[in-house]
Amino acid sequence: MNVADSEVVASILKNSGFTTTEEIKDAGLILINTCSIRDNAEQRIWGRLREIGHLKKKNRDLKIGIIGCMAERLKEKLLETEQLVDIVVGPDAYRELPGLVAEAEGGHKVVNVLLSHEETYADISPVRMDKNGVSSFVSIMRGCNNMCAYCVVPYVRGAERSRDHESIIREVNELFSNGYREVTLLGQNVDSYLWKEGGHDTGFPELLERVASVDPLLRVRFSTSHPKDISDELLHTIARHENICRHIHLPAQSGSSRILELMNREYSREWYMDRVNAIKRIIPGCAISTDMIAGFCTETDDDHKESLSLMEWAGYDFAYMFKYSERPGTKAARKYKDDVPEEVKAERLTEMIALQNRLSSRSKKHDVGKIFEVLIEGSSKRSPDNLSGRTSQNKVVVFPGKGHQKGDYVIVRIERCTSATLLGDII
Ligand code: SAH
Ligand code: SF4
Repeated sequence: MNVADSEVVASILKNSGFTTTEEIKDAGLILINTCSIRDNAEQRIWGRLREIGHLKKKNRDLKIGIIGCMAERLKEKLLETEQLVDIVVGPDAYRELPGLVAEAEGGHKVVNVLLSHEETYADISPVRMDKNGVSSFVSIMRGCNNMCAYCVVPYVRGAERSRDHESIIREVNELFSNGYREVTLLGQNVDSYLWKEGGHDTGFPELLERVASVDPLLRVRFSTSHPKDISDELLHTIARHENICRHIHLPAQSGSSRILELMNREYSREWYMDRVNAIKRIIPGCAISTDMIAGFCTETDDDHKESLSLMEWAGYDFAYMFKYSERPGTKAARKYKDDVPEEVKAERLTEMIALQNRLSSRSKKHDVGKIFEVLIEGSSKRSPDNLSGRTSQNKVVVFPGKGHQKGDYVIVRIERCTSATLLGDII
């Protein structure tokens, strides 16, 4: 999400005559795009500010801006507590950046954190900042209308709004003609994508179908699906198109129905399991990944065991796992006590990670001996003589590949695996 936003910001500034530099010491303006999702994300930003503070001593004209979610959450407070900061801009005010930077250059401290019901930056062609030129993010909606009790996103990114589908298709076409071979459609809850025009409603399955139809050589991924909304219609759409990747990120957060209710996720363990069964039935061979939170308010050992047993049952190929971090202003912060001791959260998280390591390793071992189509992303970082790419299931494969280059598709037989990677040979 933040990469996609940084690309929009870079485009807005470029159109106003700004250029970028690879050398931080040459910069006249440094913008730090921030995340507020967990406290440690914010702590890292404070650390980063300390690191770049000395640059201001050398260059008195240097302006420093905090943009994104942390700007939205802390607003003017950022200027009051942090002398180094000149500019504070929230996620819906990026179009104002050129004017705000000019004001800051005039010696003023500036803030714009207005949230919008309409802004989707639909007409802005992001400046691609990825290095590989093969895969890119495309934002299809902004904000979120769900009110998960632990989550700060609706407060810092505002209400949900979908982006005009024509502008999405235009951007995807442009990427394809520039050599990109994979797009990931981004939204907090892609299943609720909705564009209404001329009496016709375009929902996510139709949008996905249109993106997949841009070219059979374009791989399409998307994130994030919400278990309460993921429909059989969507799963059938995926099944019909080989170039829609066989991987669904379906964050469970917890395996305990009691905790899910407290979290306001609007589904139960049974509902979630039914959705996983539907994926396995309709799209055989589809990888499934999750996000899990350890130690949410009132979570008992039994609730935690239910999370572990759900993970084991689903056999996730991959998972992002977090300790619960109370975020000011959320329902959980206002109504519940953050009552699971830090060391218990840490223990539970360690247990989850150990289990997931086992599941991920089992999932990779299952792939040994199988044949996959791999999209080459470049040379392998660890062994530069080899190429690296991904399967449709989003697993990294490393293989010798003389004569092939990034953006090519090759058929690879998996010979063995390490803890993080599949190793194979082109056939
Ligand atoms: N919209 C996506 C997730 C966005 S945030 C969804 O609903 O799945 C990414 C992940 O961060 C969440 O899935 C959740 O696991 C985690 N997260 C969000 N708020 C958190 C908090 N307060 N503490 C710990 N993890 C949190
Ligand atoms: Fe946060 Fe829930 Fe929205 Fe995801 S769906 S961004 S977890 S409120």
